[in-house]
Amino acid sequence: IFDVSKPWLNRVVERRKKAFLTAVSDVSFDVAERSVYALVGESGSGKSTIGKMLVGLLPPSEGAVKIRGTDLARETDAAKVDAVRRDIQMIFQDPFASLNPRWRVRDIIVEPVASRGGETEGMAERLLEQVGLSARDAGKFPHEFSGGQRQRICIARALASEPKLIVCDEPTSALDVSVQAQVLNLMSDLKDEFGLTYLFISHDLTVVQHMADRIGVLYLGRLVEEAGPDALFDDPKHPYTQMLLSAAPQLDNFGRDVPPPTGEIPDPINPPTGCAFHPRCSIAQPVCSRERPEMRDLRGARVACHLAE
Ligand code: SF4
Ligand code: MG
Repeated sequence: IFDVSKPWLNRVVERRKKAFLTAVSDVSFDVAERSVYALVGESGSGKSTIGKMLVGLLPPSEGAVKIRGTDLARETDAAKVDAVRRDIQMIFQDPFASLNPRWRVRDIIVEPVASRGGETEGMAERLLEQVGLSARDAGKFPHEFSGGQRQRICIARALASEPKLIVCDEPTSALDVSVQAQVLNLMSDLKDEFGLTYLFISHDLTVVQHMADRIGVLYLGRLVEEAGPDALFDDPKHPYTQMLLSAAPQLDNFGRDVPPPTGEIPDPINPPTGCAFHPRCSIAQPVCSRERPEMRDLRGARVACHLAE
C-alpha cells in the first residue's frame, strides 16, 4: 500500500509505528503466583501489546520488560532469557489463526517441546485428555475441530511446555457464547490442577469478574486503576472504570439499550496531555489537562486520578 519511493510517507509510517510501540508507558504490576491477573481495556489500550512483550513477540522501543528481575529485552545471556521464556506461554484470541492447518494436532502440541529436544512420547494424547478432548484426536488436523475444540488444542500446546504463567489474550472472545463458559471453566480447572498463573487480557470486565484475583484497568497504554474484583466492582474509583462498569450489561437492564462508553478513544499516537482520559471525563477540572495523575493507594486499590477520593 505504501509507496517506498515516497520517503516522506515512509517517515510518517515509521513515526506511527514507533509511536504505537511507545503507547504503553510506566505499566507495572505484580502477579502473584497461582493467581489470575486481568488486564482490561478497550481496543487500543495497549493490553495485547503488553501480552506480546511478555512472551517476546514484540520488543519494547525503550525501557525494560522485567520478569522476576530478568530484563527480557536487554539480557544478553540467552540461557537466562530462555529459562524465563520457557515458563511463559500464550493463548491467543483466534484459535483458527494460531494452529498450522497442515500439521496434525499431535505435532502442533509437542512442537515447542520437541524443538528443545524434549521427550514427547504420548504427550499429545495425555494433554488432549486433560483439556477434555480424546487421545484419538492427536492424528487429526485443525479443520476437523470446532472453535472451542481448537482453543482446547491451543491450551494443550501451551501446557506442553509446563509453563508457570500463561498469557491469555481474549481467549474466548472469538467463540460462541455457549462455548465461552466451558473454555473458561476448563482454564479454571487446569489452573488448580497445574498450579498455573494467568495474565488474562480482556476488553470485557464481566468476563474477568469471577475469575480474576486482581484487575488492572488500562487506558491509552497506562494503568488507571488496579484493585481486587470486589473493590473494583463495588467501589470503582477512576471515572473511566466507572464508565466501563456503567456500560456493562447487567441483569436489571437486560433487554434495554445500554449506553456505550461515551466519546471516542483518542489517537494513541497523539494522546491528550495530563490525564489522557480528560476529554471523556465528566468531572474533569483544569488540573486534569495540565498534570498527569500518578498512581496512588486509595481504599485497597491503586488509582491514577486527581479527583478520586
Ligand atoms: Fe477525570 Fe481528572 Fe480523574 Fe482524569 S484525573 S479521570 S480527567 S477527574
Ligand atoms: Mg487485542
